[in-house]
Amino acid sequence: MQAGPVVSLVVPFYNEGAGVDAFFKTINATLTRVDTASFEIVCVDDGSKDDTLARLLSASQSDPRIKVLELSRNFGKEAALTAGLDAAMGDAVIPMDADLQDPPELIIQMIEKWRLGADVVLARRIDRHGDSMAKRGTANLFYKIHNRVSHVEIPANVGDFRLMNRASVDALKRLPERQRFMKGMFAWIGFRTEVVDYMRPARATGSSKFTGWRLWNFALEGFTSFSSAPLRIWTYIGSFSTLLTFIYLVFIVIRTLVYGVDVPGYASLLVSILFFGSLQLISVGILGEYIGRIYTESKQRPVYVVRQVYGDNREP
Ligand code: UDP
Ligand code: MG
Repeated sequence: MQAGPVVSLVVPFYNEGAGVDAFFKTINATLTRVDTASFEIVCVDDGSKDDTLARLLSASQSDPRIKVLELSRNFGKEAALTAGLDAAMGDAVIPMDADLQDPPELIIQMIEKWRLGADVVLARRIDRHGDSMAKRGTANLFYKIHNRVSHVEIPANVGDFRLMNRASVDALKRLPERQRFMKGMFAWIGFRTEVVDYMRPARATGSSKFTGWRLWNFALEGFTSFSSAPLRIWTYIGSFSTLLTFIYLVFIVIRTLVYGVDVPGYASLLVSILFFGSLQLISVGILGEYIGRIYTESKQRPVYVVRQVYGDNREP
């Protein structure tokens, strides 16, 4: 058995059957180059419908470092990551994607920085040509708006791929929210952070699970989890339009007093009714977004449910 600290890799798998073997092959090639630490690989099967679980299990037969956590259904990447972080026992934990979009070689640099005293080491993508134009554009827009309205700054172009020491993982575990926007939660805990840069390659196999509508909801999750600006903005919009309405009211009253009753007024009436009606609908909708989240939080449901744990040979 190797001495030295243990590093846990936490890898969520959702319908990645085609990529499992390639993943372990690449990972192994990298891990054998590290002799300052030993590893455990926590694989979370997030309710895959293909042969991901079977392949994970057969990989774990021949490699005692692999531990497999099977969730009872698909809970989504954030929940799967949480499950993996909870199960990881290492002195440092590295969450990474199963599709090899997070280059394993970086693990070596991360561990180096960690041993030099960093609590958290972020992997920052300096090039995202593996992602589509639209995805890059909307991602940039998201970071820009989010960091303007929220107190917690999320570093741009940093995903979940990072190294966290034990203290920061424990801090993260103390965040009890059910709606888990991991990017924001990672940023919220703080700690002494260093960065390594890399080029983000395209997916090795399969296709991205995050497209269009799912990404939009993900972004909404980000705003509502870490900012109440969308709620507060209505106070200002409301005050401003009240002021305008008041000025208009004074104008109408005076005009009526001076020129007498003026029946035609259909257009201005309809416009103001429609305008304020839709303004109210938008603000009620935003209230709804937050109330919906309060509702889910108040149910206190667990973030994920484990069906079975395989290959955990630390416990007797
Ligand atoms: N994933 C997951 N559950 C889901 C969706 C995705 O565990 O419901 C995993 C997926 O298997 C992969 C990682 O999350 O390991 C990132 O997914 P993907 O590559 O589709 O996202 P992208 O790289 O496009 O952001
Ligand atoms: Mg990917």
